Amino acid sequence: MYTVTDPATGELIEEVPNSTDEQVQAAIDRVHRGYASWRSRPVAERARIVARAAELFAERSDELAAIMTLEMGKRINEGRGEIGIVVDIFNYYADNGPALLADEPLSIKGGDAVITKGPIGPLLGIMPWNFPCYQVARFVAPNLVLGNTILLKHASICPRSAAAIESVLRDAGVPEDVYVNTFASSKQIPAILADPRIQGVSLTGSEQAGISVAADAGKNLKKSVLELGGSDPLIVLDTDDLDETVKAVATARMRNCGQSCNAPKRMIVLADLYDDFVDRLTKRVASVYLPGDPADPETKLPPLASVAAADEVAAQVETAVRQGATLRTGGHRIEPGAYLEATVLTDVTPQMDAYYEEIFGPVVIVFRAETEEQAIAIANDSPFGLGASVWGTDPERGRRVAEQIEAGMVYLNSAGGSQADLPFGGIKRSGMGRELGPAGIEEFMNKKSIRL
Ligand code: NAP
Repeated sequence: MYTVTDPATGELIEEVPNSTDEQVQAAIDRVHRGYASWRSRPVAERARIVARAAELFAERSDELAAIMTLEMGKRINEGRGEIGIVVDIFNYYADNGPALLADEPLSIKGGDAVITKGPIGPLLGIMPWNFPCYQVARFVAPNLVLGNTILLKHASICPRSAAAIESVLRDAGVPEDVYVNTFASSKQIPAILADPRIQGVSLTGSEQAGISVAADAGKNLKKSVLELGGSDPLIVLDTDDLDETVKAVATARMRNCGQSCNAPKRMIVLADLYDDFVDRLTKRVASVYLPGDPADPETKLPPLASVAAADEVAAQVETAVRQGATLRTGGHRIEPGAYLEATVLTDVTPQMDAYYEEIFGPVVIVFRAETEEQAIAIANDSPFGLGASVWGTDPERGRRVAEQIEAGMVYLNSAGGSQADLPFGGIKRSGMGRELGPAGIEEFMNKKSIRL
């Protein structure tokens, strides 16, 4: 069952039945049927439709933001911000797709060749609830321009976002057999991946879902892109304005109520700044991030996406404290609804679960490092490798540290960001493959070598 439950109140708003196996089969038929004509349209025509989708996302920004607020508690202003980047992504691939798909001539031993860049066929997308529109955009915009068709399974708490996105694409001119939303359950995914008409899968979600989807894709020899969890480190080397640094760090961690895969989750601060940093961060977190209605633009701490998510994060904090971590502020559930106090933890050691696991909520963990080398070692002591950020006044030092971090992305003096033209993705247990930028259109591309 897909359900809409308002996380601010716990009220059940709507239930949408899962697609039956027959409906899933019919959806696969459609994206299979749609592929032949979509791939043979001129790329400029596909790009024009994608550009029109960008316009419609912009026009419907308020409506889409309100849906996200209702379904997963996103602050209304953050919802509008999310649609802003969705618009950028659709425009980026509309503007740059045709050039990115241009033939590539190649001089080879004994003659010439050309690499053509075409689609591979119908794809399955499996998407999470934390950025209901942005995650879909990262997968859909480049693949529509490339000529692939898409079957989309959204998170089961986001049926209205799923339907609204399908409407935007339909109204933009994406044919009804080219992008198809399905309310499939995760139990139906193995059968979809076993279907010979589906050529690949992109999942954004948890490690557990990644393990399952990658196994099914592998069993069926299908290409997969996996955008999974993260526990991004943020290293503070030095600063000439500690208050500004603390403010920026807190903002990055608390964005989307702490439910961002690439939020900085482990702050690693050099010893000379550590005490002051922890004091000021704790004061800021305790005084600024107060719970409120996510539909109110003034609210700083909305609910988490569901009561289950809030309970899980609260349990992670409780376990950390039981295992010896220091709770500087927060840590308690607030009811009704899916609220959790904004939380700061310190003295987390490798013996505690919280040291290695992803905490997907408004919880900051601060570590003390005696040296730059130790800071890098703590940053890399993680099963994840999504993003990271390095803060300091010396750009060369920042760059040197960035190069030693095991992550798919490192930001200097900023954190937790994403933009249409910059590739996004991780290493280690954060997944494989890239979205956004030029790399994002290559994942499900047939780079065909033609020997002339
Ligand atoms: P999730 O539980 O893994 O769900 C993500 C999607 O996968 C949903 O559509 C879900 O369907 C589906 N799913 C779950 N188990 C599955 C299975 N065994 N087989 C097939 N599909 C399955 O993740 P979430 O809780 O929504 O999202 C939070 C996680 O996503 C965090 O770990 C976060 O770090 C990660 N994330 C990563 C990125 C990135 O770019 N690297 C971006 C955003 C989020 P149902 O809803 O029906 O269960």
